[in-house]
Amino acid sequence: MHTPLPMHVRIAIAGTGFAGLAAAVRLMEDGERDLVLLERSGDVGGTWRDNSYPGCACDVPSHLYSLSFAPNPGWSRAFSPQEEIHRYLQGVARDHGVLPHVRFDTTLLHAAWDDERQRWAIETSRGTFTADILISGVGGLSEPAIPALPGLDTFAGATFHSATWDHDHELRGSRVAVIGTGASAIQFIPEIVQDVERLTLLQRTPPWVLPRRDRAISPWEQRLFRRVPLAQKAMRAAIYAGRELFALPLLHPRLARRTQEMAVANIHRSVSDPELRAKLTPDYTIGCKRILLSNRYYRALARDNVDVVTTGIREVRPHGVVTDDGVEHPCDTIIFGTGFQVTDQPVAHQIVGSAGRTLHEAWAGSPTAHLGTTVAGFPNLFMLLGPNTGLGHTSITIMIEAQVEYVRQALRHMRTARVATIEPRPAAQAAWNAEVDRRGRGTVWTAGGCASWYLDETGRNSTLWPAFTFTYRRRVARFDAADYTLTGPRPRRATPVAPVPATVPA
Ligand code: NAP
Repeated sequence: MHTPLPMHVRIAIAGTGFAGLAAAVRLMEDGERDLVLLERSGDVGGTWRDNSYPGCACDVPSHLYSLSFAPNPGWSRAFSPQEEIHRYLQGVARDHGVLPHVRFDTTLLHAAWDDERQRWAIETSRGTFTADILISGVGGLSEPAIPALPGLDTFAGATFHSATWDHDHELRGSRVAVIGTGASAIQFIPEIVQDVERLTLLQRTPPWVLPRRDRAISPWEQRLFRRVPLAQKAMRAAIYAGRELFALPLLHPRLARRTQEMAVANIHRSVSDPELRAKLTPDYTIGCKRILLSNRYYRALARDNVDVVTTGIREVRPHGVVTDDGVEHPCDTIIFGTGFQVTDQPVAHQIVGSAGRTLHEAWAGSPTAHLGTTVAGFPNLFMLLGPNTGLGHTSITIMIEAQVEYVRQALRHMRTARVATIEPRPAAQAAWNAEVDRRGRGTVWTAGGCASWYLDETGRNSTLWPAFTFTYRRRVARFDAADYTLTGPRPRRATPVAPVPATVPA
């Protein structure tokens, strides 16, 4: 039995992953109780609930890949597996009293700003309601991208995406084609390779892969973190500092040589066949696409039952994938490790601002937002993990928390200044984006010689924050009302009263 939707709330939050939960917890600490979280599925956890493919784990150390206000002394490994992060998020929702505010199985379909009533009119799969404030916590990695390959609908076998893994499908003895070589594929390929009869990897671009320095966290360390919370804080701070150093070769690609040499050595250590080595060696600067971590990926590809195919895909036939050279690669199962719709997210088509335009229309192919969080023309909308808040070098939770603290300040300001709506001034948003573009110039993401999903259809990086995270934290540390147009509550229109007749009819 689902809790019904309210008629009106002060705050609506879309999504219950890291972003939505962090926002809910911190706003509730500020006394906000009139809030709902919309969750399309039956459980919290966002991307860490959905991505349950074999081998799914985080490539950012656990003590940093978590919320600073909800430390977990019990992390079992340096890099947490998916189930553990999912359980952690379930715990955060439960322990901070968020669950009663979540409306499960409720998909956000449409949200339109009503200027007259100064609120969002929100349509969901389970009814409509209104909200003063809308916070999007849907993130960039929620909508799987499956390429429109000619003939895909004629395929006689099974197909699924890494983010919607079919655990009931038996892979043992199957001939499997894997499309994609991103962070997800390099994690699941080593897990399935020994079971499948044949694995054909269709690689468009090879990734750079570095060794993954994972280890079990010992019971005595966990005890220490439990008894001395400061020790865990120190560990988190040390990891934070170390990861910020990783940004240096990304921001200044001339410093990337050493890292790239380590990645080449990694290929040579695991692969002896020169032809396969050549296929697996990227021709772009390391970091241009996300640097991947694995100790098992290259060894998996060196097995006898694996073919790495680098020719492009022409079409799919009932029993195989045909490449541009006309060769048909027979398979019974196709697994898509083809990533997500990052720069053209469905949510951008669903949110309609004051001018009647969707975010997608307002952005015209290149998403922008003031401080990556608020958008001119979209009053009272806050986007967690909005444009240019993604990261290539460290934990995304740092950006989420920085944004959530900014939203808190904005809402406090609205309360104390008795403001009904806030909307960034176009000039402030333009200045911020000019700063983002200036910071991005010469970084590996624009100068590294690769095509990545960090770049939008105009070729601009509208996904990543192209600097250190402490710089972003500093830039959003204070809500500056001067960047915004603030509007007070509109006077309520008097209810029309029937005119009193001047004379009483006889
Ligand atoms: P991804 O990084 O976007 O990789 C998609 C892969 O599919 C790429 O190799 C891409 O090739 C290939 N591809 C896409 N369309 C194709 C087509 N039409 N034909 C052939 N190949 C095609 O996706 P992902 O691996 O799911 O990872 C997405 C993001 O999720 C990561 O970058 C990361 O942020 C996150 N993630 C994180 C972790 C973690 O440990 N923290 C783990 C998994 C995922 P091209 O390179 O040529 O485009």
